[in-house]
Amino acid sequence: MYNVTLIPGDGIGPEITEAVQQIISAAGVDIKWQTVNAGANVMEEYGTPLPEEVLQSIKKNKVALKGPITTPVGSGFRSVNVAIRQKLDLYVNLRPAKILKGAPTQFSDLDVVIFRENTEGLYAGIEHNVGDNAAESIKITTREASERIVRAAFEYALENDREQVTAVHKANILKLSDGLFKSVAEEVAQDYPDIKFNNKIVDNMCMQLVQYPEDYDVLVLPNLYGDIVSDLCAGLIGGLGVTPGANLNDQLAVFEAVHGSAPDIAGEDKANPIALLLSACLMLEHLGEEKAASQIETAIEEVLTRGEVLTADLGGTATTTELTEEIINQLGVE
Ligand code: NAD
Repeated sequence: MYNVTLIPGDGIGPEITEAVQQIISAAGVDIKWQTVNAGANVMEEYGTPLPEEVLQSIKKNKVALKGPITTPVGSGFRSVNVAIRQKLDLYVNLRPAKILKGAPTQFSDLDVVIFRENTEGLYAGIEHNVGDNAAESIKITTREASERIVRAAFEYALENDREQVTAVHKANILKLSDGLFKSVAEEVAQDYPDIKFNNKIVDNMCMQLVQYPEDYDVLVLPNLYGDIVSDLCAGLIGGLGVTPGANLNDQLAVFEAVHGSAPDIAGEDKANPIALLLSACLMLEHLGEEKAASQIETAIEEVLTRGEVLTADLGGTATTTELTEEIINQLGVE
C-alpha cells in the first residue's frame, strides 16, 4: 500500500484522474490516495488557489499525481502549476518522449528524455512595465540551479543505461546567462566520462530533432527552451494526448501530464486519459512497481495499435469511459 497525494485539478482533470485511478487499481497496485484541491475552485474557501494543505500533503506523502489546473490569462492569480514547482523546489521537469507502438505519428524512432530546469530562467516571474509602452522580463541563470539539473540528467543517464547527454542553449547570443549554463554543463560532464556529452544551440536542436531524432538520447535545457523543445517532442511522438511528465527533486515527485485543463471539452467525457496514465506509469516506476507500469504501457500500445477505441484527439469517437474500459480489458490479456 502506497500513500499518494491526488490533485484532481480542474477542466478535464477530475475525469482523467479518476480514469487513471481505476486503471492503476485494475493493474493490482494498492494506493491510498489523499485527495487535495487547488485552483480557481478553492479560491473562495481558502482565499488562495494553492492552499497550504496541498503542499503539506505532497511533503508528507513524497509522491503526488496531479491533474491540470487552469491559469487565468492576462490577469488573476499566477499559475498554480508553476507555483507548486517553485514552492517545493521541484527543480527537474522530466519529460520522456518515446514513440509508443500504434501512436499517431509519422515518425518511427524517437526515444529522448528531456530534463528541463524548472525553477528559474524566464520563469522566475520578474517582470515589470517600463512606462506605458514597454515591458521587461528578467531571465535568471545561476550556477547552482544549472549544476543540479545537469547532474540530474547525467545521473539519470547512468542509472538508465543511456549513452549521451546533450546540453541545449543559446550561448552564441545570450553569452552570459546561457554561457554560464553551457560552461557548467561542460564542467559537470567531466565527472561522467562514460557518458558522451555534446551541446547544441536551441534552434539547431529543434531542426535536428525533426530531421535526425534517432541521434538524441538525454537532453538538458534551461526552463523556457525545455518547455518549447518538450512540446516539439510531444508533437513528434503523437501529441499532448500521449506525452507524460514529472516534476522532481531529491525527495519529492509530482507526476502530471504535459497538457492543460482542456476547458473546451471539460465535463463531456471526451478527454484522453493516456498522457496522465503514462505519467502515472512513471510514478509506478518511481514507487518500484515497474511490472505494473510496463503492463499498463503494453495495454496502451495494444489499444493504440488496434485503433478501435480511441478518443477524438486520437482520431476516434470513443468516450473517456470507453477508452478507460478498453485499457482495463487489455490489462487482463497476456
Ligand atoms: P490544453 O493542453 O488544455 O488544450 C490544448 C488543446 O488540446 C485543446 O483543444 C484541448 O481540448 C486538447 N487537449 C488537451 N489535453 C487533452 C486530452 N487529455 N484529451 C483530449 N484533448 C486534449 O492547452 P490550453 O488550452 O493552452 O490550456 C488550457 C488551460 O490549461 C490554461 O489555463 C493553461 O494555463 C492550463 N495549463 C495547465 C497545465 C498544467 O496543469 N500543468 C499545463 C498546460 C496548460
